[in-house]
Amino acid sequence: MEFGNLEFIQYHPTMVPVSGKNLLISEAARSEGGRLYIERNGVPWYFLEELCGPEGNLVSRNLAVRKMYEVCSRPDCRPPVYLDMREIPEVAWQKRLEGIKEECGKFLNINPEKTPVPIEPAVHYFMGGILVDERHRANKNFLYAVGECACQYHGANRLGGNSMLGALYGGKVAARTAVEELEKYRAAACGFQEKGNIPEKNFETQREDGALRRRTEEILSGCMGTVREETELQKAVRELEKMWKREHLAPEERNRILLVSAMVMSALERRESRGAHIRSDYPDARPEFQKSTAAYFDGKQVRIRFRDIPADKEAGNV
Ligand SMILES: Cc1cc2nc3c(=O)[nH]c(=O)nc-3n(C[C@H](O)[C@H](O)[C@H](O)COP(=O)(O)OP(=O)(O)OC[C@H]3O[C@@H](n4cnc5c(N)ncnc54)[C@H](O)[C@@H]3O)c2cc1C
Repeated sequence: MEFGNLEFIQYHPTMVPVSGKNLLISEAARSEGGRLYIERNGVPWYFLEELCGPEGNLVSRNLAVRKMYEVCSRPDCRPPVYLDMREIPEVAWQKRLEGIKEECGKFLNINPEKTPVPIEPAVHYFMGGILVDERHRANKNFLYAVGECACQYHGANRLGGNSMLGALYGGKVAARTAVEELEKYRAAACGFQEKGNIPEKNFETQREDGALRRRTEEILSGCMGTVREETELQKAVRELEKMWKREHLAPEERNRILLVSAMVMSALERRESRGAHIRSDYPDARPEFQKSTAAYFDGKQVRIRFRDIPADKEAGNV
């Protein structure tokens, strides 16, 4: 199976960690007048307003996250970043933000009309996933992927509110394709070439060891955060290669190592910053990378290739 754009992970800027989980403060807070600030030399600095031109606090998620990272790294600034909602008009609280007020009160014991809320970016959405064609077919016969697990519509940076596109429209397309293909029952139903299979071995009696899962989570947290760079990514690849060579891996563990390797290697190979993928060592977008990544297993190891982005008509967006 091929996976696309696994390096594009959207971090939401206005999250609040609460007891091991993250409370999401909706983008509506920024659109109604919420402002981000950090303490600079002891004074609140509304950095998006100064650094992002007229869009100010309304910049896209990836840009807000990038600027948060930059200001938090400055010696004259003291994290955390705060979401200041004190200037939001009463009518907006009543009509559109009632839920935010309730949740801040319930989970944070903060009245956001009076007190700024400390925030930090957290993982929100995977733009990448199982690579599907315009009819939602993966490169395995009779396998269709829809919604967040699929890589189809969102490129490098999904815009807020449109996961419905993949879930509802994609679901309709995939269901129609599945019915048609079932009726025809064609052996060669898929649009992509198959890229190799995991060699068959009998692992079925083995259970996943929680330690490996936790380690892969740590690896991802370490090198696939809001900002990535070469050395950390390479270090992670080397550790994952060692893990892959271990004996007696359970099937879940093999799959986990392969998927995490595919994510890290996709991020390593994309030596630029684009959308949600930010590299401190390659801070700008580079035209030669205006392509999708595709990760696949060749029977021995994970490989990454770059694919041209289909023209609108080819992609079905007409
Ligand atoms: C806090 C938050 C707020 C969001 N707000 C918005 C928003 O305002 N607008 C918007 O467009 N998008 C929003 N999103 C994104 C959107 O909610 C998701 O992208 C969307 O729900 C994904 O739908 P899905 O059906 O693809 O996957 P999911 O909703 O994740 O459904 C997958 C299902 O599969 C089940 N499952 C998993 N593994 C297995 C298994 N092995 N066997 C059987 N079942 C399994 C899961 O339990 C789950 O029920 C938000 C996301 C978050 C986290």
